[in-house]
Amino acid sequence: MGFETDAIWKGQKPVISKTSFGDVAVPIHLSSTYARKKAADLPGGYEYSRCGNPTRSAYEECLASLEHGKFCLSTSSGLAAVTVVCSLLKKGDNIVSFEDIYGGTIRIFDEIINRWGITTNYFDATKPETIKQAINENTKIIWLESPTNPLLRVCDIKKIAEIAKEINKKILVVVDNTFLSPYFQKPLDLGADMVVHSTTKYVGGHSDLIGGAIICKDANLYERLRFNHNAIGVNPSPFNDWLALRGLKTLAVRMNKHQENALKIAKFLESHPKVKEVFYPGLDSNPYKEVSDKQTTGYGGVVSFKIDGTKEDAIKFVESTNIFALAESLGGTEGLIEHPVTMSHSSVPVEQLHKLRVTDDIIRISVGIETAEDLIEDLKQAFQKIDLN
Ligand SMILES: *Cc1c(COP(=O)(O)O)cnc(C)c1O
Repeated sequence: MGFETDAIWKGQKPVISKTSFGDVAVPIHLSSTYARKKAADLPGGYEYSRCGNPTRSAYEECLASLEHGKFCLSTSSGLAAVTVVCSLLKKGDNIVSFEDIYGGTIRIFDEIINRWGITTNYFDATKPETIKQAINENTKIIWLESPTNPLLRVCDIKKIAEIAKEINKKILVVVDNTFLSPYFQKPLDLGADMVVHSTTKYVGGHSDLIGGAIICKDANLYERLRFNHNAIGVNPSPFNDWLALRGLKTLAVRMNKHQENALKIAKFLESHPKVKEVFYPGLDSNPYKEVSDKQTTGYGGVVSFKIDGTKEDAIKFVESTNIFALAESLGGTEGLIEHPVTMSHSSVPVEQLHKLRVTDDIIRISVGIETAEDLIEDLKQAFQKIDLN
């Protein structure tokens, strides 16, 4: 079946029985526990909602199929998903990670699991060959994110997975697929072993939930993840799973509109005299367009740009929009604008930001699905307000 069909029906087929009424919308099962007739039996397959819940199962089945995986675990946040993946490791193990990944993930690597004796080496994944120097005999996980935040750098997932597996085929390749969602990118088809998501972003899609997910194909890997997921207790609420499942139904139409608007905005920005550089892999001028076209079916809805001005001008600009809300996060129907250095990336050390070329003059936009012309007019008036000379 096609993506849109699976998004609407996978795990969600109405069941007509004495206790199930043919609900077309999957019900929200709030029960924390499940009764049984005999002590050792689990007739409905559920015992306690940390371990599993019917609403969660429907959503997990649907998201697994959209990512071309077999299994999915829904978590209470994107960072909870990262934590569960890290819980596969033990003292002495090593992670090799793209240096340009979500700051909260770096915080788990460098400030939480480092204290448990797990080390992380960083490399520039836009130069796949450099991974060879970063991998050592203790490396168990390769961590990638593409495109990155906020500069939308793209790495060749397939090539990196091939190099890593050639060195040691037991190495697990993990891709954070938050920015493109399974609609535009399917890392498991590119050789990744696990996909993680912050479903807070495009999967949920309406800025009204915090959630995460892990998707994989291998049954043994899934069993290990599932054991740890339940043992740590990072289950989401049934209501959040229901919201995320509802989000999946419109993921395809939303992503198409996000992208259509993002491309218009990127082109508008590229032609504006007060813009020094635009970061969007869908632009012909973008250095990552070629690798992006090879591995994705789209470029997503986040556009960043360098304003021709000072840090103060950049801040004034993000404070000057009328439609775009000044807020962190991304992936919702609403257009959001922010200044990474003072907002989303403020927890990342300045030296690290400079190394990644995330400078004071950079502005990030999560392009919403409003009328594109309204969004462009809003940016135009913000440029006028800061009145750069
Ligand atoms: C937001 C985000 C996360 C963290 O997810 P939460 O749901 O906020 O815990 C991880 N990775 C990426 C790429 C993100 O954008």
